[in-house]
Amino acid sequence: MQTDVKKCLSCDKAIQGRVDKKFCDDYCRNTYNNQLKAFSNNLIRNINNALKKNRNILLSLLADNGDTVKTTREKLLKMGFQFKYTTHTYTNKKGNVYGYCYDYGYLELDNDWFLIVKIREPS
Ligand SMILES: [Zn+2]
Repeated sequence: MQTDVKKCLSCDKAIQGRVDKKFCDDYCRNTYNNQLKAFSNNLIRNINNALKKNRNILLSLLADNGDTVKTTREKLLKMGFQFKYTTHTYTNKKGNVYGYCYDYGYLELDNDWFLIVKIREPS
């Protein structure tokens, strides 16, 4: 029984030669690394798109409503808001934690209500 036949990480064929080899050749190594890169790039693109969508949702809720506006979790979810994607958080002196998507943020209030805010431009 051969228990430790090394297989190429790219094409899955058995590898001849040195024990520490991971790929058949440079072609397999490049293919594998390009796939990894494509996966990362996809992931980054999807997260960036989700963040921009979140920002647009907050922006559209705040449009014409002054500095802040209140909305519900249900409405945010219906618009496609994804709470897991924020760029950063901000904790104010009272200990309230705001979640931000770039320059727009939200604060969770009681009973599934949310306060939508925008970072003020420096005056
Ligand atoms: Zn290979």
